[in-house]
Amino acid sequence: MVSEQTTVETALVAMRSEYDALVDQGERWSLRTLFSTPDRDIDDYCRDFRPNRFGEYALAEVENFCRRHRIWLDSGGAHYNSMTPYLHPNAVTADRMTIIGIFNAILFWLNDTVGREKFAHLSAAEQLRAAHTAGRLRDMLETRSPAADPTPEEVATAEFLDLLARDAEPAWLDQFLGSTAEHLRTAIRDQNTDARGDLLSVTDYIDLRSEVSGMYPAIAMCEFGRDDYLPWDLVRADGQDEKLRRLRKLTAEIGALMNDVFSFEKECIADGADFNLIPVWLLNTPGATLSDAVHGSARIVRDRLTEFYLLSDQVLAAYADTDLPAAESVAAHLRDLVGCVQATWAWQIVTPRYKGVSIFEENHAA
Ligand SMILES: [Mg+2]
Repeated sequence: MVSEQTTVETALVAMRSEYDALVDQGERWSLRTLFSTPDRDIDDYCRDFRPNRFGEYALAEVENFCRRHRIWLDSGGAHYNSMTPYLHPNAVTADRMTIIGIFNAILFWLNDTVGREKFAHLSAAEQLRAAHTAGRLRDMLETRSPAADPTPEEVATAEFLDLLARDAEPAWLDQFLGSTAEHLRTAIRDQNTDARGDLLSVTDYIDLRSEVSGMYPAIAMCEFGRDDYLPWDLVRADGQDEKLRRLRKLTAEIGALMNDVFSFEKECIADGADFNLIPVWLLNTPGATLSDAVHGSARIVRDRLTEFYLLSDQVLAAYADTDLPAAESVAAHLRDLVGCVQATWAWQIVTPRYKGVSIFEENHAA
């Protein structure tokens, strides 16, 4: 293990000096080129995308909520919360958009204070407190009631759960809370190689990263946003459930892994983390350079985009011109998934969150 950790550390040091050299040389890759497949240019695919029409109202409400509960971050709060109207373009009321925004704001606040990229930089006492916080929040999701001595984030979460439970379908709510607890279990801890004690394979990394990303609860929130829940029994009877589940997985992976490329510098250069597809690909590929890792990672994203385009067309075609009772719900859910994929590109291109000195044209803002 010592030798594996030494090898990992040596490879990461080499990766960071390669990075510095690329910046010095002014070498830059186009994310648009990296994420475009032979038959679809990513920017064209996302051109008609529009964030939710209630976005501005909801973001103001979310900021009030966060300030009231003392979970507003002056540095970055506005930048990360702006994702909400992008990821949920189809939420049908301002109230639902606001509830989704509160959920995202609580998760982003956790991520940016005690999440996996910050965790390694916390003191031992702070790490204990963060793990304790995450554990208590998971307990709350199960019991749906706060502890007797709640912290500000627990009071905020309790208020969020009340709002959500009031308007959500009970069976969906159970699944959603379970999925969110699983997200918290993996997200609020140090997932870097030296803390984990092992190097993940690329495949295992992708599975874990998808849980960590929060994309599964985000996809479920699309159903809440439209107040229309997928009739899985009907979808199964139509023989489309496997494809639809695969599409949800692809959506989560595209969101998580495209973000890894956009946020590579924020996480791996500024925060020194290695829980990101680019270093994981590099560490799993002996002799590879950072340039190889960037292109290898982008290919993994493109492969998933290609499969997503193909499968979504197939499922849509299976219901086209039918009067199957699930047809409308499935078509609406496909629009949600397409919206999530488009948002992944459209939001990350505009948010200042990833802008700075960069080896990517679209991120470079120096
Ligand atoms: Mg990231």
